[in-house]
Amino acid sequence: MNSDNVEGSVLEKSIRFHGHQCPGLAVGIRVSEVVLRELGKPARDEEMVAIVENNSCGVDAIQLLTGCTFGKGNLVFNDFGKSVYTFINRETNKALRISIKKDAYDTDEEHRNLFAKVRDKSATEAERELFTQKHIKKSNEILDLPEDKLMIIEQVEPKPVQKARIHESLDCVVCNEPVMETRVKLLNGDVHCIPCFEELTGNNS
Ligand SMILES: [Zn+2]
Ligand SMILES: [Zn+2]
Repeated sequence: MNSDNVEGSVLEKSIRFHGHQCPGLAVGIRVSEVVLRELGKPARDEEMVAIVENNSCGVDAIQLLTGCTFGKGNLVFNDFGKSVYTFINRETNKALRISIKKDAYDTDEEHRNLFAKVRDKSATEAERELFTQKHIKKSNEILDLPEDKLMIIEQVEPKPVQKARIHESLDCVVCNEPVMETRVKLLNGDVHCIPCFEELTGNNS
């Protein structure tokens, strides 16, 4: 795709939502593009579900562009630490599994060293500037990469995903705030919210 004209608006919107341009955001944009092309328009309700296997930058673009969002409950996060995204269209019963290729995120040694310095806050102003430039350059490369170099797209059998359900709320005996019944902790038979329960028991597991 061309990252500097028509799609520029998609990129700009994504940067505005996410806060910066980075390689991960670019991957999220590319994944969303495939999903909208293959599975249809952005989800207004729960007709489409995303199952994401990481919670990094790309998921912000996916939420913004596909309409599969944390708040609607049609974004399922499996904490597997993998660059894999599965989308299910419940209306057509079609599902896609998209995995990002190993070398898509490859960066040169200088970029990696700068990243380490920025992370442990030892980078100078000039190094931080150079890092930002390299990060944006890598992001633009991902936006322009041919699809088959970037990802593997497979049609899969849609797995059943539970619809977001509305639960009853119960009041915590300590703070008196309502808590969804499935998240209640019982202590001597009394209803507690998780923060109050953890404060009382010193247990934060
Ligand atoms: Zn980012
Ligand atoms: Zn409470």
